[in-house]
Order: sequence, then C-alpha cells, then structure tokens
Amino acid sequence: MSKKRRRKRRHVKPLPGTDTRVIGIVSGKGGVGKTTFSANLAIALTALGKKTVAIDCNVTTPHLSYYLGVKNFSTTINDVFSGDIDAVFAPLDQNGVMFIPASERFIDLKRVDMRNLRKIVHRLARKGDFDFIILDSAPGLGREAVGVLHACNEIIFLTKPTVPNVMDIVRCNEVARMLGHKKFSVVLNMVRGKDHELTPEKAEELFDASVIGMIPFDENIMDSTAEGVPIMWYKPKSPSCNSFLHIASQLAGINLSEFAGDIDEEEEELKEEYIDEEESEEEKFEERGVIPIVEEADKKRRRRRKKTARRNFRKSIDKAGTRVKKRIRVFFSR
Ligand code: ADP
Ligand code: MG
Repeated sequence: MSKKRRRKRRHVKPLPGTDTRVIGIVSGKGGVGKTTFSANLAIALTALGKKTVAIDCNVTTPHLSYYLGVKNFSTTINDVFSGDIDAVFAPLDQNGVMFIPASERFIDLKRVDMRNLRKIVHRLARKGDFDFIILDSAPGLGREAVGVLHACNEIIFLTKPTVPNVMDIVRCNEVARMLGHKKFSVVLNMVRGKDHELTPEKAEELFDASVIGMIPFDENIMDSTAEGVPIMWYKPKSPSCNSFLHIASQLAGINLSEFAGDIDEEEEELKEEYIDEEESEEEKFEERGVIPIVEEADKKRRRRRKKTARRNFRKSIDKAGTRVKKRIRVFFSR
C-alpha cells in the first residue's frame, strides 16, 4: 500500500473506545461568534450537569481565556503539544467550567503541531472522563481548522444567516465528509430577523444539515465581550442565553423544563432542612419543658445558627452556574 493511501485511511478512523463527544466549533469567516459560542456553550453544558472542557484551538489568535474572564493561567494547550504536560492535567477551572487556554506568546507557536490535536483529544476523551470536549477553532480551512475537523467527531458550523457566510458551509461540509464525519449541524448566530436573512428551514434544505439553534443578535454580548465576562454569567437574562441553553440541552438530550423542576426541588429541600433545624430547636425546649436560663445567650446562639444555616444554604446554591440555573427557572416560569 502506498504511503499516500495509508495516510488517507488514518484520516477516516473514528474516535476509538470513548463516549466523549468531541465537538468542533468551526466557521468560514472570522468574527461570527465561535469563541463566544464555545465559552457559553461550555458554561451551559456544565450548568446542565455535563462534564465539559473547552479547548482553545485557535492557537495563532487565542481568545478563549479572555472570553471566560481569565487573565492569568498556568498551563496552555501549547504545553500539551510540546509534551511538557499531560493533556489530562491541563484543564483549568473557571467557576466550575473546565477549559484549556492557548498561549498568547508568539514564541510558543513553535511548539504546536496541529496534526497532534487528535491524539491529545483522544487522550483527554479516554482519561479525562468528559461528556463533552468543545474545540474552539480558527476560521476557514487553514491548519488550525483542519486540525479541529480531524480531531472532532461532531461539527457545529457557526454562521451569520447572510449569503456570503452561508456559502462557506458547503465547503466545510465537503471537507468534513472527506474526513469521514457524519454529524454535521449548523447554528445561525447574530440573527436579526431581517427579510434578507436565511431562514433555518431554507438553510437545512440548502445544506442537508440540521440547524440546531439560532442565536439572536444581542447587544449584551458585545458589552460582555468588552468586559471579558461570558454573557451566561454577565447577563443571564439576555435573550441570547436562552439560545445557548436550548442548544446545550439539545446536545445533552436534556429536557429543560424537567431539569428546572429538579432545581426547584433541590432548593426546596435545602430550605426545608433549614426550617426543620429551626423548628427542632423550639421543639426540643418544649419537649423538655425547659425555659432557657439565660434567654439572651440562647437567642444569640440561635441567631448564630440561623446565620450559619442561611450562609450554608446560600453557599450550596450560589456556586458557579447558579445564575444560569435561575435563568432556566425564570425562563420556564414565564
Ligand atoms: P470568532 O471567534 O468567530 O472570531 P467572536 O466570538 O470573537 O468570533 O465574536 C466576534 C464579535 O462578535 C465579538 O465582539 C462578540 O461580542 C460579537 N458577537 C458574537 N455573538 C454575538 C451575538 N449573538 N450578538 C451580538 N454580538 C455577537
Ligand atoms: Mg475566535
């Protein structure tokens, strides 16, 4: 078998022995919102209880860490490429969301060979125990993007719903099929609902791929980008956050309304625990027929207990992602 042929075979090999879904976020043009989408999708999936890691694969112009509000970081995907750190130990945690940034130092590009991305992703998928690995790609079909297409097993093509942008979908779809991909879906971003925009029905018809979501043009996203805080944390009531949640729930196969019910129950239980604790104190005194000797001290003690209980209650629900969960509740209580 010739060398050329052997290389071709390697390309179509599927991801072996893992349930991890590796999703490449790609686009034809830059500036369509891939990094915004990757960061907020990772937040939404994490909030829905899916173990997710987002990787900055746009190594020449990396932005993912900024979009997640991270200024300083210890490890980068460049360290993984160079073999200085095992991929399994590379993910960092920002408010409960796992991610691997890319180095912003130009010199670190020397250490990157995008052909090895697939190997890195495989290792993470096998050992990292992730449900989802999100690969934030560079635009077009250059080395970085092809590295992502090669490494992932699902593709989400992000595009604005306007003609020059959507034409790129066809080309990307072709390349994806050449690489042996099966799952290929489209997300329309910055949708304004204008007449000249492509409708999702039309897009599906044109590209033979399902449109799994539409994200409205949202001024709040621009503000959140300027602040360096993802919209899901910055303004979780923004219209675009509904879209991120819907897309995440679709990918994860989660029914959002049921999930919101679970959150309510969880919080109710916590509240009940807190109330029970208070009542049981009262009951204890009544049962024993004891009138506290130093009532003032007792009151203080109970106030302290109440404060601690409240603080614990708040702590337990005020973790990263809580605002997202609240958002889900508000969304369904309308
Ligand atoms: P890419 O990674 O594709 O280059 P970015 O995620 O960096 O794109 O987004 C480019 C710009 O578009 C950012 O300023 C971001 O705030 C803005 N943006 C992304 N999505 C939206 C949206 N739905 N509505 C409004 N602005 C958006
Ligand atoms: Mg980007």
